[in-house]
Amino acid sequence: MHSNYEAVIGLEVHAELSTRSKIFCACPTTFGAPPNTACCPVCTGFPGTLPVLNRAAVELGIKAGLATDCEISRRVRFHRKHYTYPDLPKGYQITQYDHPLCRSGRLTFPLDGAEKTVDITRIHLEEDAGKLIHTKEGLSLVDHNRCGVPLIEIVTEPVIHSAEEAVAFLKALRLRLLYAGVSDCKMQEGSLRCDVNLSVRRIGENTLGVRTEMKNLNSFTAVAGAIKAEFARQVRALENGEVIYRETRRYDEQKGETVLLRRKESVSDYRFLPEPDLPPFSLEDGLVERLHGSLPSLPEARRTDYKALYGATEEECDLLLSSPHLASFFESCASQTPYPKLLIHLLLGEILRILPADPKATDFTASPTAFARVATLWGEGKLNSTAAKNLAMLVWQGEQDPVSAMERLNLAQNSNPHDIETWITQVFQAHPDMLESYRKGKTNVVKAITGAVMAASKGKADPVMLKTLLEKRLKSL
Ligand code: ADP
Ligand code: MG
Ligand code: ZN
Repeated sequence: MHSNYEAVIGLEVHAELSTRSKIFCACPTTFGAPPNTACCPVCTGFPGTLPVLNRAAVELGIKAGLATDCEISRRVRFHRKHYTYPDLPKGYQITQYDHPLCRSGRLTFPLDGAEKTVDITRIHLEEDAGKLIHTKEGLSLVDHNRCGVPLIEIVTEPVIHSAEEAVAFLKALRLRLLYAGVSDCKMQEGSLRCDVNLSVRRIGENTLGVRTEMKNLNSFTAVAGAIKAEFARQVRALENGEVIYRETRRYDEQKGETVLLRRKESVSDYRFLPEPDLPPFSLEDGLVERLHGSLPSLPEARRTDYKALYGATEEECDLLLSSPHLASFFESCASQTPYPKLLIHLLLGEILRILPADPKATDFTASPTAFARVATLWGEGKLNSTAAKNLAMLVWQGEQDPVSAMERLNLAQNSNPHDIETWITQVFQAHPDMLESYRKGKTNVVKAITGAVMAASKGKADPVMLKTLLEKRLKSL
């Protein structure tokens, strides 16, 4: 039954902009401050206060447009969108209505070995609302800290047809915004949230069906789940001869189903009117060009380089690109070692693992030259993998001179056959049981013997030489 229908999906993505202060006042935008400690009369809507537009918010909005191939409107104007809700103290939201900052963009991204392009209708600037907190005791409290945090809303054309496409688009968009420095895009902190608009139609039809909207989805899993559940619900309804209404629905992740919130208000309910306290203005000449010039290289271009220059796999690229700081650090190191694959190994195997827990994670104060040197020492066989990983960690923590650290800590790999033979003999004498098992044909005991010899060498035996010498000794038993 499902296979006769296709889903038609358009997304509305809200991203909090990485400004230090709010969009119309000087309050800080820090996440997680105690409730109602980051607000003032302007962002809590006291009568008689006046908004002052934050220049950085406009610039980041333009950067978002440039990073997604939009046309930038040179004339900026704001509207009031009226509605009542306890988290909206002014009773209206300042947003952009018929003159969005950016229009007609697109984002192309890889999907199932091919490429998909999603057209972007518009990107506009607006302010965020506060947050309601519902307590166990049944109280509803309001926290105004988020009121007036600058947002962009990115609206796509209805050209997405599955959960997989939607998630791939969102991942690509998230990386773009992250690299362009527009937003920190932390879905778990709500700085990137997505509304899904979805209708269904019979395959082959060209008209659009009636859509519903699922609001404020804040993980990729929730977006995918909401799409699958709502697609199934609409198909079922149509097959039963029911009518689909324009509705706002909520996705219940536990139950895996969408639930009616309200029948959709129409545009006229919002009474959009030009914001009288923020007169329209024109962007100064050269601003858009200057911002365009300041955009760093975007993730797709970097991915191409990583594959071509350093032989990175698709999965390695995903991980290296997951943080712009990590990517930049990798690039500074990679140009300084002939062993980029070992470098990737060290970064992804050791450093990436500790990044979330390490508060310095975004600082990347380690010396790229020293870090690259560790990969080189490993590549040249002067360190084995264990020692390379230990040394990499030391360099990460601030060690500047890996060569002298290697000597000081006696980490250098030992490739002296005489020493390795001695360790093998020690292990043979200490573990006659292991040799007995080997003689009985239990060849998997070789692993345990290797481990014991490595331990006897305090991790320094050259593993390749150890393997060769041990095989010879075992054969001659
Ligand atoms: P609104 O202002 O009510 O949110 P918009 O026209 O701005 O409506 O559209 C919001 C989103 O809904 C856009 O992403 C658009 O692509 C999508 N959309 C519009 N019509 C449909 C439809 N029939 N089916 C699926 N998505 C749709
Ligand atoms: Mg909408
Ligand atoms: Zn304020």
